[in-house]
Amino acid sequence: MSTDLATKLPSVLIANRGEIACRVIRTALRLGIRTIAVYSEADANAPHVAMADEAHLIGPAPARESYLVASRIIETAKKTGAACIHPGYGFLSENADFSEACAANGIIFVGPPASAIRAMGLKDAAKALVEKAHVPVVPGYHGEKQDAGFLSGEAERIGYPVLIKAVAGGGGKGMKRVENSGEFAAALESAQREAQNAFGDARVLVEKYVLSPRHIELQVFADSHGNVVHLFERDCSLQRRHQKVIEEAPAPSMPPEVRAAMGKAAVEAARAVGYVGAGTVEFIADGRNGLKPDGFFFMEMNTRLQVEHPVTEAITGLDLVELQFRVAAGEKLPFAQGDLKIDGHAVEARVYAEDPENGFLPSTGKLWALKLPKGDGVRVDSGVEQGDEVTPYYDPMIAKVIAHAPTRREALAKLAAALGETVVAGPKSNVAFLKALCEADEFVAEKFDTGFIDRNLEKLGAVKRAPTKESVAAGMSALIEAEQDRLEYAHYKRSNEAFSPWLVNDAFQLAGPRETVARITIDGAPSRVRLREDSNELSVSMNGAAVAAWGVDDAEVTGGDDGFYVVRQGRQTHVAMEDLFAIDLEEADGDAIVKSPMHGKLVALFVEKDQKVEKGARVAIVEAMKMEHVLVAPRDGVVSEISAQAGQQVAQGAKLVVVHGE
Ligand code: ADP
Repeated sequence: MSTDLATKLPSVLIANRGEIACRVIRTALRLGIRTIAVYSEADANAPHVAMADEAHLIGPAPARESYLVASRIIETAKKTGAACIHPGYGFLSENADFSEACAANGIIFVGPPASAIRAMGLKDAAKALVEKAHVPVVPGYHGEKQDAGFLSGEAERIGYPVLIKAVAGGGGKGMKRVENSGEFAAALESAQREAQNAFGDARVLVEKYVLSPRHIELQVFADSHGNVVHLFERDCSLQRRHQKVIEEAPAPSMPPEVRAAMGKAAVEAARAVGYVGAGTVEFIADGRNGLKPDGFFFMEMNTRLQVEHPVTEAITGLDLVELQFRVAAGEKLPFAQGDLKIDGHAVEARVYAEDPENGFLPSTGKLWALKLPKGDGVRVDSGVEQGDEVTPYYDPMIAKVIAHAPTRREALAKLAAALGETVVAGPKSNVAFLKALCEADEFVAEKFDTGFIDRNLEKLGAVKRAPTKESVAAGMSALIEAEQDRLEYAHYKRSNEAFSPWLVNDAFQLAGPRETVARITIDGAPSRVRLREDSNELSVSMNGAAVAAWGVDDAEVTGGDDGFYVVRQGRQTHVAMEDLFAIDLEEADGDAIVKSPMHGKLVALFVEKDQKVEKGARVAIVEAMKMEHVLVAPRDGVVSEISAQAGQQVAQGAKLVVVHGE
């Protein structure tokens, strides 16, 4: 079945990166189409580069110097003889000029005609156009007049609350909800400013704010022979700042007559612009008292494949990227509307490198651990691997996790379980937050709208929270073990004897229980943890409370550059030793003082008075509990004072050695 398509489209250049590039390459490889990847300098080792048959560097890390440079991408396509270009989503996917440039160079653009992209590009023009095709639009003003007095009059006519939207909008930018006329002028100004900054176009439209809004979108598909169908709907109402977080198909509590009405409207909207290929028609539905055939309104049409297309693939059994290739090759859609059926329910969660406990700030850095779930009915689309860096250059999405099951409840439970197996160590992630969403009672009971997340931040754990005692205990345990391994290895190398006294913990054991305080950092904040050893049992306490029994077995602990990342139930806590030497360096008179980091025993002293030392040279070892600390010279110099003797008990902070700088 694939060979015929590969004859028509022998090769494809994928003008994208990350999970969507990998996703497109996967289907192309299956169909026998030669795959050509492009990449920026930051992506030289990215999975999409390794997956493709060939890959070409197109510029530096910033997207506007690489993935957004249309001329360089076309040049690469010509050089490599690419038959077509798949733009993925984002970047150049909705750029009509790019689609025309492809055509001008004899390369097929896997997407709609430039005219359809243009017609749907501006929200106001798109609304006017679909309205003519009898598609319901939100009551509002989407004309040319932009002066504040006029628009505020329109808001009055429409009735508050209203929404001001940038006509060139996208990504929720330039969008303001206004409750009453008193707030209108300020909101308008700020929306215009945002729109000007983000899109270079300050124009706005004003529309009715739909109450209890549900975001429901229809996947449409059209071929170049006049056939247009829809592949049912997706519900993307779980949003934050107008951005999708969880998407599902079909929409919960969707009456068949509303599905039919929305499907018909979506197909009409696509027909109105002569659409070809995969597209999405977004509606906002009034969710008060259930979905109604006259209670939904066109918002916009996205003229590309969407991030959340896998939920549609799950319930229809179709490969939308394959369909895109077939339509681009001029084939007819292989089915009619009546052939399509919904199979079960699918839910997708977008796993992001961000910190829900800190205002969802993007989080970057190396992925020290990345464990993605597997299983029947679980699909993972990812474009990064363990060891990769999450950079600030691109969208910080790590993966999409999709669960498919016979019923919605089963799909949500399966997704929650899959997220429970997901481990992201290094950058912070939203895994725990996503899992809490899948398990939130009201959401499971199909009672939600687009305001659900904002109303429930606290319940969903998206607020500042203290690390759990279990996570701190697991981190401490790893720190102690690492410290012991390091010392044992050093001692082993130093000694030719099979039994070194250094390896015997008991060698320094005093009678009775011992306690010491370890100076660590928890998520970067200096903290003190009390360790207590009693007949070889170790316990840890913080702020006077016992932290946990030793050994927390439901935590995933990963070593990083510095310290350990503990991931437990999707939440990450970083535990490290405090940088003692930074504190102990007292420069005032050229002396650097090496102090004991804790109450313990000075088990070795490696220097003598007047000895020359280099910064970083071993000076002493202090042992407390099961932890031994190697203390090093904080600077180059000469040992000017020795204040303790090997074998002696020393207090935390006690001066041990002074290194005099020259
Ligand atoms: P963008 O293109 O910036 O993403 P959209 O027009 O797609 O903007 O709207 C994004 C989200 O804003 C929708 O998913 C919905 O949650 C909310 N929204 C948009 N229009 C309305 C409206 N008229 N009433 C209520 N909510 C709306």
